[in-house]
Amino acid sequence: MNYFLFLNHPKGEKVYKVSKKAEKIARQYFSNENMIHTKVKINGKEYDAVIDWEVFGKYSNFDCFNCSNDCCADSPSKLRKETREFLVDNLEDFNHITKNLDITYELGYEEEDIKEELLNQETREIITDIEEQTEMCFYGYKREDRITLCGIHSLCLNKNMDYKEVCYYKPLVCLLWPLEILSEDDNSKLYITLPDDFTNSFTIEDYYELPCINEDFSKSMLFRKRNPKGFEEEGYRPFIESYKDTLVNIFGEEFYDTVKNRLVEENYL
Ligand code: SF4
Ligand code: SF4
Repeated sequence: MNYFLFLNHPKGEKVYKVSKKAEKIARQYFSNENMIHTKVKINGKEYDAVIDWEVFGKYSNFDCFNCSNDCCADSPSKLRKETREFLVDNLEDFNHITKNLDITYELGYEEEDIKEELLNQETREIITDIEEQTEMCFYGYKREDRITLCGIHSLCLNKNMDYKEVCYYKPLVCLLWPLEILSEDDNSKLYITLPDDFTNSFTIEDYYELPCINEDFSKSMLFRKRNPKGFEEEGYRPFIESYKDTLVNIFGEEFYDTVKNRLVEENYL
């Protein structure tokens, strides 16, 4: 089994391969009868899927502009060809957002070197160097208030693109995070869930301690030490609603309706 969203991770199999122990737990978890068995389409390709629909009713609040967590610590995916070309075609604007071209010069490289890396991504010497020195994803940047934002997303917004286009250019793993998708080795089936107390033993990281998907954690002093204001309680809504635009753009209306109808039928909404 693999972590489907990490199949394009620059570090390859050592990141996306599910351990035997985690696979055993995941298979047992998804063998539960209380799952939706359906088909989903991602980037035009159809997959058989097992959906852990109940977790889509969990309360979540993606208040990223008010969050001190560093979600973008390194780039979790190689980019699709069209995104790489988009960045190279708009390198000055991308530099204005991320300072990556200026840092490239500071490190002694030339503009052509970073263009070459961006376009083919076979070598990642400059990208890795910048990520290690800044301790953040090459494509990310900090706002003046030190909140981390995505440079690809911001570049799309600066170009007046709509959310559908943002979804086209941004890596799938970043759009769907923290949704978890496991897949068979041949991608014949996907298993879709969210981190929580029950799935932590097989998700790629034990990342349930996040304010956006764990309201109790957002109120904890552990979180408030770094983020004294916490998250607004009223901002918490079922994941199916707070992530609606992304779910519809990536998986389609049918997926959204299927999961939502089930949540309504079972009185979760
Ligand atoms: S932890 Fe959640 S709310 Fe905070 S930046 Fe990451 S995704 Fe956004
Ligand atoms: S959202 Fe953007 S900045 Fe964050 S990890 Fe993904 S590509 Fe990097």
